[in-house]
Amino acid sequence: MDYVAFQRARRAEIEERIAAACAASGRTPDEILLVAVSKTVGIEEVAAAREAGYAAFAENRPQELKRKLAGAADHPVLADARWDMIGHLQTNKVKDVVGRVALIHSVDTVHLAQAIDAQAAKLGIRMPVLMEVNIAGEESKSGFDPASAREGLDAIASLGHLDLAGLMGMAPAHDPEAARRAFSGLRALRDALAAASGLPLRELSCGMSDDFTLAIEEGSTIIRLGRTVFDPAYVLQ
Ligand SMILES: *Cc1c(COP(=O)(O)O)cnc(C)c1O
Repeated sequence: MDYVAFQRARRAEIEERIAAACAASGRTPDEILLVAVSKTVGIEEVAAAREAGYAAFAENRPQELKRKLAGAADHPVLADARWDMIGHLQTNKVKDVVGRVALIHSVDTVHLAQAIDAQAAKLGIRMPVLMEVNIAGEESKSGFDPASAREGLDAIASLGHLDLAGLMGMAPAHDPEAARRAFSGLRALRDALAAASGLPLRELSCGMSDDFTLAIEEGSTIIRLGRTVFDPAYVLQ
């Protein structure tokens, strides 16, 4: 099977699972944006995925994002592709990202939010962002502590060139029950922050290859799939 054929077949399987998770939770697939995380593949695989119907891609490192954007410029099929930044971002790299992506999911400190805001001001744009929350309190993960999320939210919301659209989080790996708790906790935190701040905070970016159906059942609006989309050896759950 060639790679585009693999992409089409796999996409159909993923869509089936999205539809089933939506049906199980009274939702509809048009409420969910799938971003294909292309960090482990080259631009040819991204182009194949675009041909198979994916329209949104994401990278977790500024350097690789830069490479992909340059590669995409040479691929007519990728001219209308959306790109997001989903990984930890250092303030000295914001200029490589702001204005070049549709959404930055990974705003994990007020300091970073301020740097993004300053760059957006320089470019005369508003930059859509999400606030990353370390929902399960894992040491290895970045993000706001849920206990200080309110303070962080107020500081970020006061910046004039950011559009704060919601929250992003990651669940503990290899533990479906802990993952479900993390997703429902993220949604509860979003609801509480939205009520307290008056901001809609519509987006919940959560759910990866191993846990996206759980995330959808718990309210995710953006799932970030890497291995499921790009790796023929990955076995869907
Ligand atoms: C790599 C990555 C993903 C995708 O992970 P898979 O398990 O391959 O689907 C999602 N989100 C972030 C932040 C990532 O770095």
